[in-house]
Amino acid sequence: MPTSPTREPLNKHVGIPEVQPGQSLEPRRERSLYEILVEGGTVVDGTGSPGRPLDVAIDGAKIARLCKRSEAKGAIRLDATGQIVCPGFIDIHSHSEFHLLANPFAESKIRQGVTTELVGNCGSSPAPAIGVARKSLEGYAELAEVKLDWVTMDEYLLRLSNLKTSVNVATLVGASTIRQCVIGNSDTKAGEDELARMNRLLADSMLQGGIGLSSGLIYAPGCYASTEELVSLASTSASLGGFYASHIRGEGRTLVKAVEEAIRIGREAHSRVEISHHKAAGRPSWGAVDQTIAMIEKAREQGVDVSFDVYPYTASCTALDTLLQPWAREGSDEEVIERIKDPQTRKRIIHEFVTPTESMEDIVPDTGWENINVVGLSSNVYKKFDNKTIAEIAEAMGKDPAETTLDILVEENLRAFAIFHEMAEDDVVKVIRHPLAAIGSDGEAEAPYGPSGKHATHPRAYGTFPRALRRYAIDKKLVPMEELIRRMTSWPAQRIGLQDRGALASGMAADIVVFDPEKIRDLATFENSHRYAEGIVYVIVNGAVTIDHGEHTKERAGQVLRHRPGIA
Ligand SMILES: [Zn+2]
Repeated sequence: MPTSPTREPLNKHVGIPEVQPGQSLEPRRERSLYEILVEGGTVVDGTGSPGRPLDVAIDGAKIARLCKRSEAKGAIRLDATGQIVCPGFIDIHSHSEFHLLANPFAESKIRQGVTTELVGNCGSSPAPAIGVARKSLEGYAELAEVKLDWVTMDEYLLRLSNLKTSVNVATLVGASTIRQCVIGNSDTKAGEDELARMNRLLADSMLQGGIGLSSGLIYAPGCYASTEELVSLASTSASLGGFYASHIRGEGRTLVKAVEEAIRIGREAHSRVEISHHKAAGRPSWGAVDQTIAMIEKAREQGVDVSFDVYPYTASCTALDTLLQPWAREGSDEEVIERIKDPQTRKRIIHEFVTPTESMEDIVPDTGWENINVVGLSSNVYKKFDNKTIAEIAEAMGKDPAETTLDILVEENLRAFAIFHEMAEDDVVKVIRHPLAAIGSDGEAEAPYGPSGKHATHPRAYGTFPRALRRYAIDKKLVPMEELIRRMTSWPAQRIGLQDRGALASGMAADIVVFDPEKIRDLATFENSHRYAEGIVYVIVNGAVTIDHGEHTKERAGQVLRHRPGIA
């Protein structure tokens, strides 16, 4: 299924799809009646080509043909007059692996027009769930109110396909997860045997359907992996046709070094590389994306197939404990909490919070307590402060912000998240305008009801795709709409290796979005995050109308997209 780096010309727009194995070479007999006809709209086919006045005929789960007006009829007719008809959006950077099990309707994503999610990003995948990894995954499962009742990748994917979700799902295999399976959470170098076992687990998980490798190098235990370890794993993934997606080792003062490392891994492992949510975080680093984009372009000229994705917001969101330096996060949750409680180590942690190290992320000095909102709070003490800044919580508690942060971590058992308002809009624009940028939410499939609706969240979970279209294509006209749609559809499909999705053409999967270019917009904000986007009229997933006039039909026609090594 995936294309190898050598076969894929650099920065090539996807053209008419190749003939797939098993697909007939006979000329198609064209009929006039189809199951569904999306008629009257402007077809933007996902390749970057200009929009055309065409109807889209669908039979079963596939697009039968694109046809001129009145050429075909549909048993079901969807009126797309005045609207854009394009491929379903592919969210190349999602974290819905547990959320989809809690709520298979994928509400916040499907209502943005997302029809496929790639989960298992940032080094953490739902499987394999053994050893210390199992304990850590149980924690995530508990947060989503899901029971972790699988061990292998095959079992996880079966669980998803038996449940049936409203979107298609593919997953990466997390480098942190497999490190936890073999080594646990300790800051030790992988020995030869351990590395061999990690590679075996990765290969097994990919043979069972995992689509590639992800890493999260700011998180424990991902941050304990050496470049050599990652080259070894990325080589295994690439040999099976997979790609390597990385939350790189630093996005602030160490951004340039971290991009260098990602490129080196791609070069030495002969792997496609996706730099996840590319950004420059923290005021001293603003503007650094000029340099990193130039580095990426140069690497591509030298034959390293590296690209990136981005979400259209100036704030990030991740676990609050990423504020701790790697030494403080080593070991089990209990050990980390003991370290925070111990007066001596607590002093050292606090000192490192506020003193730039130039070696790791300097989030606090570069961002400021007043720009860090804490979310996901559920303890009796802190629940009422959900979505407040650390500066505000500290003031209300009459405490120092650093002390407050550590108290929150202890009280919440380390399970708190933070929204960091740390980026410059200029940088976001530079990244979004670049032809290599795919759009990826970095968010989960959420809903205002049920477990995910209990806490504030980053609005990207609800707004990423409509916001990018509204803000950067329609209002500011910084990227042509056809081009931005390409970067939400055929480009991520090509990166992931999905050959039958991401473009509107005969024989492709019938994953389609119909949106109103006048009305499309995001409504979710940092203050009020659980709000669905507007202007998405129809969403079709594998031929099933899942959003009809903006409402969820409760269809669950999504497929689990398993990697097929050997067809690379
Ligand atoms: Zn990440």
